[in-house]
Amino acid sequence: MIGCDCHVCHSPDPRDNRLRSSIYVETPECSFVVDTGTDFRTQALRENIRNVDAVVFTHSHTDHVMGFDDLRRFGAARGYMPVYASAETMRDLERVYEFAFKALNPFPGYLKPEPHIIEGPFALGQTTLTPLPVPHGDSKVNGYLFTRDGRKLLAYLSDCSGVPDEITKLIVDVDTLVIDALREKPHPTHLSVGEALEVAARIRSSQTFFTHVCHELPQSAEAALPLNTHIAYDGLKLDF
Ligand SMILES: [Zn+2]
Ligand SMILES: [Zn+2]
Ligand SMILES: [Zn+2]
Repeated sequence: MIGCDCHVCHSPDPRDNRLRSSIYVETPECSFVVDTGTDFRTQALRENIRNVDAVVFTHSHTDHVMGFDDLRRFGAARGYMPVYASAETMRDLERVYEFAFKALNPFPGYLKPEPHIIEGPFALGQTTLTPLPVPHGDSKVNGYLFTRDGRKLLAYLSDCSGVPDEITKLIVDVDTLVIDALREKPHPTHLSVGEALEVAARIRSSQTFFTHVCHELPQSAEAALPLNTHIAYDGLKLDF
């Protein structure tokens, strides 16, 4: 947090030093990123990312889209960048990044998005992504279920204030749940730790990682969580 003197902002634990939430997925066939927040460039440099074949968006809040133009580095070889988003999120992207979407003859090396409106499950390589519309305060945003060979590997719900029963049904017994848990205190647009634990219990995930964590929740709070529940940190890598 800019200009904050709290113990998390000054923590010696590097895991308390957090950039915006996103994930990078690498499969044998292709690689893709979910969200390109304000820190996307910093994250891509830090992790030495060399390949992004597509981008998938959860929603258009600035902490999830403001690194969009830095995808130019990855679309250059192909000439375009496939962009997957809900109709509402795509409208926002087209408005904010009009210069990229509307350019008739973009200079080589500029970002040339190829829009794909998400209307149901879709495939990236052999991974099926099922959109999981969840409430995020007054708006609806997409989480995603990642399935390979019929196995529910990962459900990613980065921003939500609740998980309706019909979504729980889709992801029940998922191997890994990554879920919004902003802090202990309730918040109008994000789940609290207590609420996220309740959702995880309903979903019966084998392991759960909290994401979109704010500076009110130190990494050390993990010690008080159930054994299969962790606080995710920047640079965390999971194998499936
Ligand atoms: Zn702070
Ligand atoms: Zn948001
Ligand atoms: Zn967010």
